[in-house]
Amino acid sequence: MAMMDDDRDINRGPDLNADVGRRRGKRRICRYCAEKTLVIDYKDPQALKYFVTERGKIVPRRISGNCARHQRKVQLAVRRARNIALLPFTVTH
Ligand SMILES: [Zn+2]
Repeated sequence: MAMMDDDRDINRGPDLNADVGRRRGKRRICRYCAEKTLVIDYKDPQALKYFVTERGKIVPRRISGNCARHQRKVQLAVRRARNIALLPFTVTH
């Protein structure tokens, strides 16, 4: 009569946090869509600097968080700003 069936340790509910398919972290929203008053202006290097790396490259969309439309405008603005020497093409140290 050894009925030691008391170990229900193994029977604990499975610990699956269905984490799959769910991207964690905060969702970036395009700041230009969020704030309608913001205008992408190539004459404003302070604003454009946000979308340019310190080496002078344009930050890719998945990092900048811009939507396609505004990323395009940013790229255009950066290119214009470069042409009138407001922003560097590349920064070499
Ligand atoms: Zn946008």
